[in-house]
Amino acid sequence: MVEKFAGRCLCGAVRFECSAEPVFQANCHCDDCRRNTGAVYGSLVFVPVEALSIRGTTGSYQHLSDTGNTMTKYFCPTCGSQMFTSNTRTPDRRGVRVGVIDDASWFQATAYVYSCRSLPSTPLDPAVKAFDKMPA
Ligand SMILES: [Zn+2]
Ligand SMILES: [Zn+2]
Repeated sequence: MVEKFAGRCLCGAVRFECSAEPVFQANCHCDDCRRNTGAVYGSLVFVPVEALSIRGTTGSYQHLSDTGNTMTKYFCPTCGSQMFTSNTRTPDRRGVRVGVIDDASWFQATAYVYSCRSLPSTPLDPAVKAFDKMPA
């Protein structure tokens, strides 16, 4: 497991450092993550909000989850890279999109979220815990 990590958006206008190890690592197969990232699923690590320091200004977009919580997506307004997420259900955490981490070689999804929505072509490891929705 990693103890700290850093990353940036495609153009470099937004940079971040995280000083704590992730509390949760997941691949999310929901339609919202697909649309938000443009990828067939979204990979996220969740970290304590106070461990994440961000330089640069992010744009944000809010929407409701299927359980009625407000979800916020944070992105670089210059290059459009999707970077962070927050959820009013877990205000003490931030999600970091794995693709914007400089060296994410340590990333290992320990859960699949909305696995029922995964595309047929997406390989799923049967050893990874799969949730049909967001785990409580
Ligand atoms: Zn950028
Ligand atoms: Zn999702």
